[in-house]
Amino acid sequence: MSTNENQLPSNFIRQIIANDLKNNKNNGKVATRFPPEPNGYLHIGHAKSICLNFGTAIEYNGTCNLRFDDTNPEKESVEYMESIKRDVQWLGFTWHELCHASDYFEQLYSYAVQLIEQGQAYVDSLSSEQIRAYRGTLTEPGKESPDRNRSIAENLDLFKRMRAGEFADGQYVLRAKIDMASPNINMRDPAIYRIRRVHHQRTGNDWCIYPMYDYTHCISDALEGITHSLCTLEFEDHRPLYDWVLDQLQTPCHPQQIEFARLQLEYTIVSKRKLNQLVTEKHVSGWDDPRMPTIAGLRRAGFTPKAIRDFCERIGLTKQNSWIEMGVLEYCIREDLNENALRVMAVLQPLRVVITNYPDGQVEQMEISNHPQRHELGKRQVPFAKVILIEQDDFAEVPPPKYKRLIAGGEVRLRGSYVIRCNEVIKDAGGNITELRCSYDPDTLGKNPEGRKVKGVIHWVSEQQSHPAEVRLYKRLFKVPQPDNEENFLDALNPDSLDVLTDCRVEAGLANADAASRYQFERTGYFCLDAVDSLAGKLVFNRTVTLRDGWVKD
Ligand code: ATP
Ligand code: MG
Repeated sequence: MSTNENQLPSNFIRQIIANDLKNNKNNGKVATRFPPEPNGYLHIGHAKSICLNFGTAIEYNGTCNLRFDDTNPEKESVEYMESIKRDVQWLGFTWHELCHASDYFEQLYSYAVQLIEQGQAYVDSLSSEQIRAYRGTLTEPGKESPDRNRSIAENLDLFKRMRAGEFADGQYVLRAKIDMASPNINMRDPAIYRIRRVHHQRTGNDWCIYPMYDYTHCISDALEGITHSLCTLEFEDHRPLYDWVLDQLQTPCHPQQIEFARLQLEYTIVSKRKLNQLVTEKHVSGWDDPRMPTIAGLRRAGFTPKAIRDFCERIGLTKQNSWIEMGVLEYCIREDLNENALRVMAVLQPLRVVITNYPDGQVEQMEISNHPQRHELGKRQVPFAKVILIEQDDFAEVPPPKYKRLIAGGEVRLRGSYVIRCNEVIKDAGGNITELRCSYDPDTLGKNPEGRKVKGVIHWVSEQQSHPAEVRLYKRLFKVPQPDNEENFLDALNPDSLDVLTDCRVEAGLANADAASRYQFERTGYFCLDAVDSLAGKLVFNRTVTLRDGWVKD
């Protein structure tokens, strides 16, 4: 996957990098990283960061590391790490090195000792509540801790003993000694190490102190020789701290932090914490529920890596947070599927049609093309017989205006097959239509009937030569465009976000459907086989997206 710089629109990050390269900064090297915390599955917001970081490396012939920011062991797991690797690869990217912040625990510790020796960090015995109270506000300066002027020797001793496990969790923290009066609260002596006796999935029980995010992140970037550390806007106020730590430590490399706006997508949530809540409280079937905005959910719903990458490029990069309409993502997947999905027929809510003048027991193979424009995708054979199924919706006793489908006494063309006429409507005792009796015109295969016009074309399958299937129709998971802004985002959940249709029938060839293929069920939407619930003999299809943009009005 190579990108041609000339074809891509410029943005402020491309400008910064182009300028750095012109000045031969970093010896003309570009090195980025994608640094997720393995505390959940990746979502569409992460895809933006992945495409940016990996895409930048590809564009400038540089490198991009995948780095797990694993400094918070109680919330992190191997399952999450594995899912993150799978999702990055599925999106089409290959990391240069696979790194973990925990790989640097020993170096981070030595750097902390260095800060103490330089008189720039101290061990504080204030509780976290006291530290918060001492921190001050946006309008008032903070108050210095009584421990701030502890001697270097004492700090070194206490810090060593923190590591050795002599103190209880929370009894001490190590803080950077910066400026309690700084207008930037992040600079008011931030904590850089805390005591926490938690098992770490990689370092086991080796450590009972763990470094804090801001301290870890900049040093990890520096140790990996990252040139451009791209992160989201909320870290703008942390940049002075990022630079302060690296300046004090004189690390061999000092990456440049550049912030960009987070992706916020309407009708979804992009926060791992809240997505986790949806999973644990069972509002969805799991992280990979097709309604979830996770990469795993989008994949299961039938989204393609190409469509997601295209989406990330299309939304662009800015310094302003804004909401992106769901229609943009849907546009990208429709464009891909319109071009690449195989056309097939599936009847979601079947109505039985008996063709009375068609010979009993005869089966004819109709040759139907797999794609209306792409003839190289070939044709398939769809069996036609005396009893077929059509959508209940495609017949109306009392047709609404402009109805072009089948009506009593009227004609319609069966897609790729004959014109039929409805002669009789059979109902049960309750007045429900159970069957239509039709006749076919044998002269209409591949040509128009003589002397009359038949406008409508409907899809169908043979009753005998088709397969039962379950079809899941997904709608938006939330009722409002910005569920994150609700007092309780759970109140905004759409109670009708899933329709399960269990009596569907799909054309014979779909018995061999595989989860990697994408289908357009003609006239209905784009679908894929559900990779999880489709067992042999039971076909389950997920709707990826409707054929046209009409969701909001649903
Ligand atoms: P969350 O709030 O969902 O946990 P996070 O920012 O804490 O998100 P991380 O695992 O720390 O998640 O994210 C890894 C990288 O992905 C970071 O560089 C982060 O800035 C970026 N990222 C996360 N969410 C978004 C988003 N919505 N849009 C763009 N980038 C994002
Ligand atoms: Mg985070």
